[in-house]
Amino acid sequence: MTRPTIEERFARLINPVGPHHIWTGNVHHGKPRMRNNGKLDHPVRAIMGITDRAVRIIKLCHAPLCVNPEHYRFHRTFDRKLARMGEFPNTPLWQLVIAILDDEIPEGPPDLVKEAKWLARRCK
Ligand SMILES: [Zn+2]
Repeated sequence: MTRPTIEERFARLINPVGPHHIWTGNVHHGKPRMRNNGKLDHPVRAIMGITDRAVRIIKLCHAPLCVNPEHYRFHRTFDRKLARMGEFPNTPLWQLVIAILDDEIPEGPPDLVKEAKWLARRCK
């Protein structure tokens, strides 16, 4: 039996209520959390692959325990220089974000490009 992926575990622990994805998993001091690579992390950080602790996630909606990534924004200003220096995770997703911010045409799987565009809008 293969271990469930982070996406599978995330999907299993949310209860869709309208546009919101209400977290039904572990909660600590009122904040959703889940295990990711052996560490406890916020499910939105985990699912978005955000490992940089300097990047804060801020919930925009008022639904308690909502973990729909669309309902969050990222606090830290995206710094391209820092990104190139590896401040942000060196993943295909963040590579695409950098490309978009550099006004390059992002190339990759449509889903990933879509997600990168969404992230880039919030990083400017
Ligand atoms: Zn929400």
